[in-house]
Amino acid sequence: MVERQIARRGVRDPHVLDAMRTVRREAFVAPGMEEFAYEDGPLPIGHGQTISQAYIVALMVEAAEIRPGNRVLEIGAGSGYAAAVMAQIAEKVISIERHAPLAETARDNLAKAVVSNVDIKVGDGTAGWPGAAPFDAILVAAGGPSVPASLKTQLREGGRMVIPVGDADTVQTLLRITRTGADSWDEEKLGAVRFVPLIGAEGWTEDGRRSASSHVPAQNSGKTLPQMVAEVAEPLPDIESAEFGKVFDRYGDRRVVLLGEASHGTSEFYRARAAITRHLIEHHGFNIVAVEADWPDAAAINRYAQHHAGRESEEPPFTRFPTWMWRNTVVEGFSHWLRTYNATGAGNNVGFYGLDIYNMRGSIAAVLDYLDEVDPEAARIARERYGCLTPWQRDPATYGRAVLSQGYRDCEDEVVAQLRDLLERRLDYEAQDGASFLDAAQNARLVRSAERYYRIMYYGGAESWNLRDTHMFETLEHLLDAGGSDAKAVVWAHNSHIGDARATEMGKVRDELNIGQLCRERFGDGAALVGFGTHTGTVAAASDWGGEMEVKRVRPSHADSYERICHEAGVPRFLLDMRRDEALRRRLMDQKLERFIGVIYRPETELMSHYSDAVLPRQFDAWVWFDETSAVTPLGPEHRRDGVPDTYPFGV
Ligand code: SAH
Repeated sequence: MVERQIARRGVRDPHVLDAMRTVRREAFVAPGMEEFAYEDGPLPIGHGQTISQAYIVALMVEAAEIRPGNRVLEIGAGSGYAAAVMAQIAEKVISIERHAPLAETARDNLAKAVVSNVDIKVGDGTAGWPGAAPFDAILVAAGGPSVPASLKTQLREGGRMVIPVGDADTVQTLLRITRTGADSWDEEKLGAVRFVPLIGAEGWTEDGRRSASSHVPAQNSGKTLPQMVAEVAEPLPDIESAEFGKVFDRYGDRRVVLLGEASHGTSEFYRARAAITRHLIEHHGFNIVAVEADWPDAAAINRYAQHHAGRESEEPPFTRFPTWMWRNTVVEGFSHWLRTYNATGAGNNVGFYGLDIYNMRGSIAAVLDYLDEVDPEAARIARERYGCLTPWQRDPATYGRAVLSQGYRDCEDEVVAQLRDLLERRLDYEAQDGASFLDAAQNARLVRSAERYYRIMYYGGAESWNLRDTHMFETLEHLLDAGGSDAKAVVWAHNSHIGDARATEMGKVRDELNIGQLCRERFGDGAALVGFGTHTGTVAAASDWGGEMEVKRVRPSHADSYERICHEAGVPRFLLDMRRDEALRRRLMDQKLERFIGVIYRPETELMSHYSDAVLPRQFDAWVWFDETSAVTPLGPEHRRDGVPDTYPFGV
């Protein structure tokens, strides 16, 4: 954990790295949660509180420059973990916790970990602990509206305080305050973080308001960002009009144009991508459409589009959750258009391919079917875990529900063996098809990586995400190579895949990469990354992995989001080209929230489960906006008319 999660992210202080290696994190997590102790995120410890992500603890302790011999004050003992880490370096740590039962647990945890130089006190830490002041360092493990004055005065001259400050329910800025004299302090910003609220006389009130003694920091006003967006944005014509695609002529000479989406169930995103793609095919010679779908399923659309024979005996494509993602009226219409276009012999024979891990959804469905039979409890947990395959979901409550995973561990070998059989059968079948794209090398690569995919997919996290996106990128490269030097591809995948991961929490905090980043690294300006967004409307999504599709209302965008700025610009549909105006680009470079809705949408926990920090102009070359959007119309097997055979995409 220390190497992977901490040192690689730039924590260098040898005291900190040693201390992190010494303290065993599992002694500080709630009973039953031990197997998650080393996961890269916060975990619940009761009373709605969390043990901080290990990396954040390391970052804060390093920033506080804790040295041997120091006296340290911590506000928010929680589990006692951070206090134990600091106690490895400092001479004495005093840690205040407002919840008495948590303080009791922290004491027990510290005793278990044989740490004896920490004193846990119960009380309101915003007042500090004057009896033991001054301190060489103060670490505040909860986010307040401002820096408590009492704490500033309890720092020794030269002493450092590290504290998150900002809005209680969004992101905070991590500050380092250094006392430079009797009446002077320096302040540095260390970056965006997210903490539970600091509740007390100089923090927030219990109901989330600013307490009387916390002063209001000056708000910086200035010109409005929405006005600037309104000026620079290019209004878009109706999606169905011929003019729509022309706005994207600027990307006609790229090798790869990546088109995103902010959900997997919004009609406008699909319709706009289909219109742009038709235009790029007809006018700029694009001949590959590569989408975030399973290869074998997309191959059925490809056979239809390229006038190859359909297959009778195969399971109909896209019949696994989430069916609406590729079985919807827009994709159906686009498949018909492709078939007609290819029949004209206009030059380029356009193919339609799936980039995702070969048969990923089929594999997940097979795991769930199997567990449903042998261990329904393990199946329930597996659904939860697969629901978290999305990197922006980090609701700690999810871990709470997914904790009993021993059931899966017991049958993992069995499951992986079954999946290997399933894959081999699929590939045998594919090999009988003369027109198959899969050559022996690609085939061997799939088999080689499959077992690894299957094992880590269940556990989620950065490694499975990175494997998946690397696979998507390699498949794209393979398609481009096979198409020769004239080959040009349009990619349809979620914003989280096609927006440069280095510009979001994914890359910055969790070491996750994605296909957009890999395309930029490989093709430079030969790749265009186009993100999509919306303010409100309806979306097709489920509440859990494998659940029913529902049409859900999308909540109006959050006040601190890029989406809110676009909404306030007051233009219903637009393209924002990030290179068009340098002043606007600079203003947009201040990190904000961005909304990510996948196949699962949970409006109840929207802020935690669907918003992530991002720097929009770094993430995308352009941003397509639809202020109000509506759900896709599904054509799932469950939606077909009685008695009509399911022939999608071939049926009319
Ligand atoms: N450092 C902890 C994580 C703490 S989470 C660890 O390593 O596990 C933040 C903690 O701050 C919570 O336990 C919360 O109860 C506590 N807290 C919030 N406001 C406080 C205040 N004013 N005084 C003391 N503790 C506070």
